[in-house]
Amino acid sequence: MPEQEENKIKEETVNVCPLCRQKTLTLMEREMEVPYFGNVFIFSMTCSNCKYHKSDVESVEQKEPCKYSFEISSQDDMKVRVVKSSEATVKIPHITTITPGPASQGFVTNIEGILSRVKYQIETLRDTAEDDEDRKKAKNLLKKLLDMMWGKEKQKIIIEDPSGNSAIISDKAVKEPLKANKVKVEK
Ligand SMILES: [Zn+2]
Repeated sequence: MPEQEENKIKEETVNVCPLCRQKTLTLMEREMEVPYFGNVFIFSMTCSNCKYHKSDVESVEQKEPCKYSFEISSQDDMKVRVVKSSEATVKIPHITTITPGPASQGFVTNIEGILSRVKYQIETLRDTAEDDEDRKKAKNLLKKLLDMMWGKEKQKIIIEDPSGNSAIISDKAVKEPLKANKVKVEK
């Protein structure tokens, strides 16, 4: 089977950007095959003028609200495929929680991709910290995160998605149904 087939661009259009109001917003929709999960639509909006960017991922097949837990225990785990929709909550206990919301992005990545985003956020926190206490806290978190990325420290990662459009694709991942009463009501 030709591997290149999985990245077909379905549609690409230029629209007015919701932020800067210029006709410089590229909307893209494509379909991608994620092994052991199914086909997904990937949507993205990128403004070449003001750099506004929004992306999301949606399973072609309707999925049930889900919760995935995974224990990161080696460097190999960095390669584990992750589908994260904009409605997902990603919990990395004692380090951070990525919450859904208007600024939340959806994408197909791997564990390393998720951790790299967290790393970037903590580095920003460290570099902009007003006092030593906050800077020290950020530094400690960063150390923990790096140990995790190098497989030196076991760490759990949990993804909850009321839309069912997220997954951690590994035999080691534990999948459970997400209870309806845990669905957050968003404004
Ligand atoms: Zn713009």
